[in-house]
Amino acid sequence: MPPGKRPGPVPFILEVLACAYSSARVVLRYRTPFELLVATVLAAQCTDDRVNQVTPALFVRFPGPEAFAAASLPEIEEAVRPTGFYRNKAGALKGIGSALVARHGGNVPESMEELTALPGVGRKTASVILGACFGVDALPVDTHVGRVSFRLGLTRSKDPARIEEDLVEAVPNGRWDFATQLGWHGRQVCVARQPRCGVCGLSRVCPRNGVTRSA
Ligand code: SF4
Repeated sequence: MPPGKRPGPVPFILEVLACAYSSARVVLRYRTPFELLVATVLAAQCTDDRVNQVTPALFVRFPGPEAFAAASLPEIEEAVRPTGFYRNKAGALKGIGSALVARHGGNVPESMEELTALPGVGRKTASVILGACFGVDALPVDTHVGRVSFRLGLTRSKDPARIEEDLVEAVPNGRWDFATQLGWHGRQVCVARQPRCGVCGLSRVCPRNGVTRSA
């Protein structure tokens, strides 16, 4: 490090988050990569809790890609309606089911390229699957990760792709754990409205300490 230059806040942030959320896991409940893929699609514009209420019955009715591929759109729409945007989500799930059967033998592929080629699957969803199911050091940027990163000054952008680039640059490895821990911090402490700065372990390095309301 050049003389006179102080270490940045990233090592401190990593240490505090790792300590506070050492057992952090994906909030969505799933048993297989396919179930996590479905749950992550349903979690768009919906809370994880609501998705967790819907998926147990959904996975009984549609146990795999073949069932989604064979079902009618109205059937799937009815089953996912409580998660909102149900027409788009039902179309994506039917398309994913069909694509998995046609191109991947009914299995969830293990590469970013193949995952993001599935209907309705973006980089964030693909990163969740890669990190949680296949041990890839991925860095999915959801609304919580994006908000906390912005407040901490780890990024100046609110665009998920740019935030991911900034975080990848700041964190050379352990990115999956870091993203999961940032997400939990965003749910429990650095919440969207009225962040709990008074009890936040990162307050001394956070440029938004005490001043953030909704940014
Ligand atoms: S100090 Fe406040 S704004 Fe900064 S990370 Fe903590 S809770 Fe969020």
